[in-house]
Amino acid sequence: MIIILAEPSDHVAQSILRSKRAQKHTFYHVHTGTECLSFVEKYAPDLVVIDIMTPVMHGIEVLKKIRHKEKDLGVIISSFQTMVQNYRAAVEAGANYFLPKPFDIDHFFDLIDQHEKKPLTPTQISLDKGHQFSKELCYTPKPSVLTSYIKFWGTRGSNPVAGNEYVRFGGNTCCLEVRHNDTLAIIDAGTGIRPLGEQLLHEDHESYHLFVGHTHWDHITGFPFFAPIYQKNGSIVVWSPVGFEKSTKELFTDMLAYAYFPVRLEEMHSKIMFKELRDTKPIPVGDLLIDTYHTNHPGPTLGFKIISPQKTIGYITDNEMLMGYLGHPNDITSDHPLLEPHLGLIEFLKGCDVIIHEAQYLPEEYAHKIGWGHSSISNATVLIREVGCKEWIVTHHEPTHSDEKLQLKAQLHRDILRECNVQCSVELAYDGFMLPLDGM
Ligand SMILES: [Zn+2]
Ligand SMILES: [Zn+2]
Repeated sequence: MIIILAEPSDHVAQSILRSKRAQKHTFYHVHTGTECLSFVEKYAPDLVVIDIMTPVMHGIEVLKKIRHKEKDLGVIISSFQTMVQNYRAAVEAGANYFLPKPFDIDHFFDLIDQHEKKPLTPTQISLDKGHQFSKELCYTPKPSVLTSYIKFWGTRGSNPVAGNEYVRFGGNTCCLEVRHNDTLAIIDAGTGIRPLGEQLLHEDHESYHLFVGHTHWDHITGFPFFAPIYQKNGSIVVWSPVGFEKSTKELFTDMLAYAYFPVRLEEMHSKIMFKELRDTKPIPVGDLLIDTYHTNHPGPTLGFKIISPQKTIGYITDNEMLMGYLGHPNDITSDHPLLEPHLGLIEFLKGCDVIIHEAQYLPEEYAHKIGWGHSSISNATVLIREVGCKEWIVTHHEPTHSDEKLQLKAQLHRDILRECNVQCSVELAYDGFMLPLDGM
């Protein structure tokens, strides 16, 4: 028989042509669909074998063009793509046979012998072919379980938000879970502490350390909804800075008056103790050290440094850098007088692997928010530059910033860092964001 083999792979073609059984026939090997058509014209073959993926012209199109003129010419469509749609397309376009690849060479010549005696007709292909793997050979990796990490349960500043324009970054106010094996510390009791508390009920913790950087609503309103405070035998130490007007215990007692909430502080099942944070020496919590330093914010406010065995993280949610400054960050040199009030904090943060620091306002928004206790992106960039950190995570997002606006803000962060030649990656935190503390 005269057979035209339209086969893009030389390897497949050679394994056919080198077979002894090929000598019985005259083969013409072509690579493309268009070559195939012209060889059909030229050599008037008895059989054409077409790979479905022929270059220049798709195998099915070649088949249709052949059938347009030659109703009886034998055509085998062959393919690695053994999906049922390809099989049906080939049969409906008039193929005598659909031959799944890879095929056994003897099987190929058996089909040709068969066709020589009586034209082939399509038989249903087994679609399982090529899809069956033994389970032991399958690569199915699973993520390792993090045992040392920080997790953001709330990344919004000022007040919580909800709605479909906040689904990506989330709407809960500040709460950070810090874990190192069995050690747990919680920083801030914004609304994000409620879902964290739900999770903790499934663990066997009985004592908790809660650090509150300051007592503005966005850092404490979740406390009454923190389920572990209702746990019998539980104990919670609330660490907070020394208040100007009242102690934190007095403030929490006021917050839990019957007029505001049905359970008073002294009625909680858990034992709740209040301790004052002074930025003199770090507080040990298991294998972690929690260090603090005052920030520039209305009222006594502390920023944190979380020292784990492998990584040190700065966590500053509320800090107004370069108060009232609206100019270009490059004009604030390291010896600029406006930096003077921040030198202590900058020194405190030096050596951190990651800095979590707010940048609540776009530069043009900051002009209307001077003295509110929060930084513009550009002024926060100066702190990052002076600290010399390589990784910046931004949290305490402005409540009026929708997901779309925060995405644009992320780009502005990168643009400003680049413009100031600060080599630091930047990412915006979202509710649920986790960062490993184990150096990976
Ligand atoms: Zn805040
Ligand atoms: Zn505040």
